[in-house]
Amino acid sequence: MKRIGVLTSGGDAPGMNNAIAGVVKAAEAQGIEVYGVRDGYKGLINGWFEKLDSKFALEIISKGGTVLGSARLPEFKEETVRQKAVEQLKSHNIEALVVIGGDGSYMGAQRLTEMGINCIGLPGTIDNDIVSSDYTIGFDTALNTVIEAVEKIRDTMQSHNRAAVIEVMGNGCGDLVTYAAIATQAEIFSPSESKLSVEEICEQAKKMADVKQRSLIILVSEKQFDSHDLAKKVQEASGYETRATVLGHIQRGGHPSGMDRYLAFTAAIYAVEKLIEGKGGLYIGLSDNKLVARDIESTLNMPKPDKTEFIKKIRLLNAKISK
Ligand code: ADP
Repeated sequence: MKRIGVLTSGGDAPGMNNAIAGVVKAAEAQGIEVYGVRDGYKGLINGWFEKLDSKFALEIISKGGTVLGSARLPEFKEETVRQKAVEQLKSHNIEALVVIGGDGSYMGAQRLTEMGINCIGLPGTIDNDIVSSDYTIGFDTALNTVIEAVEKIRDTMQSHNRAAVIEVMGNGCGDLVTYAAIATQAEIFSPSESKLSVEEICEQAKKMADVKQRSLIILVSEKQFDSHDLAKKVQEASGYETRATVLGHIQRGGHPSGMDRYLAFTAAIYAVEKLIEGKGGLYIGLSDNKLVARDIESTLNMPKPDKTEFIKKIRLLNAKISK
C-alpha cells in the first residue's frame, strides 16, 4: 500500500486531531503517504484532498475540534453519490481510508468497503454513544468540561441557596450526565436511558429543601425537557430559587484530555496496521481497556447495556443528605 486517506465525519470531538496525527505518523513510518480529506464525505466526493506529514501532525495534537473539518452529507446513502467518492479516490491513487466519526459515519465506511475501498472506523464523538466501545474519542474531554461547568455553577448556587437545572449533551446516551453526576455528586440526575419525570424531579427537590440542603444540582440529558420550564416547576415545588443552564457547544470544544489523546493515537496506529493487513469494514473500539477491531455491521447491531440498576444505586447515594 502506498497511499491512504483520513477524514473526520459527523459531530466533531476533541481528540479527532490526535487520531489524524496517529494515522499520519503510523503510516509515514511504513513509507505510506497520507492524504487528509476536507469536510468528511462531502470532501471525498469533491476531491478535497491534501497531503499530510508528521510536521503537520505535531502542530495539531493540542487543538480541539477537527482541523480537517466535518460536514454532513445525507446523500452519501445513495450509491451513485458514493461512486463519485470511489472515482475521486482512485484518480488520486488513494487505496484505503480511515474514517473518524460516529455510527452514521461507520455506515458510510462500510458501504465504501463494499465498493472496493477498504475503510476502518475510529470512534470519534463526545457522546460515548457507540455501544461497542467502552469509551469514545472526545468523551473524557467533554466530561471534564461538564464537571468544571457544574462546579462553577455549584459555587454560586451554594452562595445563594439556589437550585440549578443543567442540560448536558449526549445524543440519546446519558453517560455524560451519569459520569458527571458521580463526579460532582449532583443530587438529582436524569440521563437519557433512565429518565425521571418532572413530578419525580420536583418531589426530590422538595425533599432536599426539607432537609435544608443549601444548593441543589439537577443534571438532565438534552431533549428530555425544556430546561427553563423545568427550572420554573422546581422552583414552585421546592421553594428554591432555580436557574437553568444549557451547556451547549462549550462541551464540544477545548484541548483534548490526556486520555482522549491516548485513545485516539493508539486506535489510529491500530487502524493503520489493519489497513496494511488488507482489512476493511472494521471499526476500532475499546473493550475492557483493550483495543479491538470488530466488523462494522456487528457493532451497529450491538444491544445497549442496561444501566438502570447502576443508575438507581448512584441516585440513592447522591440524594442522601444528612439532616
Ligand atoms: P455520526 O457519524 O456522528 O453518527 P451522522 O449520523 O450525521 O454522524 O453521519 C455522518 C455522515 O455519514 C452522514 O452525513 C452521511 O454522509 C454518512 N452516513 C450516515 N448514514 C449513512 C448510511 N446509512 N450510508 C452511507 N452513509 C451514511
